[in-house]
Amino acid sequence: MEQIRPFPPTDFIDQAELEEAIRLVPAPDLKQWVVDNYLKNDGKLYNPDHDHIAELMDDDETFLAFAWASSAAVSKKRMVLGQCEKIMFNQGGWRKARQEQQMRDWFGFVPVYLITVDASFCERANDREFCALLEHELYHIAVERDEDGEAIFSEHTGLPKHYLGGHDVEEFVGVVKRWGANQDIKRLVEIAKNPPFVSDLDISKCCGNCVVN
Ligand SMILES: [Zn+2]
Repeated sequence: MEQIRPFPPTDFIDQAELEEAIRLVPAPDLKQWVVDNYLKNDGKLYNPDHDHIAELMDDDETFLAFAWASSAAVSKKRMVLGQCEKIMFNQGGWRKARQEQQMRDWFGFVPVYLITVDASFCERANDREFCALLEHELYHIAVERDEDGEAIFSEHTGLPKHYLGGHDVEEFVGVVKRWGANQDIKRLVEIAKNPPFVSDLDISKCCGNCVVN
């Protein structure tokens, strides 16, 4: 049977429009779909770059959770379609209790990382855009590496040491225009010249929405 990618609940965006506020809901089906397709060895979009996440999930599946947001967030005057955050409640007292309760009510647990995506974008995005957004967020869960690029494992738990990683390339167009591209940008440009590694066929096997039609 053809797999269909997860879509946000139908009444959810309407309700947010009615309330004129951004609403958020847990997305357990999205998590399952990401695990099956990106993290499992036989997944149609499997990427060994995320093996450390798979390993951490094998140990404790509460490591990661997903949520839909009814619309994009605005940060630094830019539209944010997805967000990966490391859940950290530093403040004590009732604030911490309230935030943890929210997580438990939603997911049944307090996750280590939470990935939130814009449901209105995901609803209208094509399969390739949708898959790329989710993989972008997964890449933010980074593993610490030694000088040789080997993953570092915690002596205490034996599990990969993870952190909320930044983007590989961040630069202003104006700086590149005036001063030229640095090594990271040159590398990105070289990679962008190649056709994408994931084919439309692979995507259609796990989304089956609009690529094949
Ligand atoms: Zn990002």
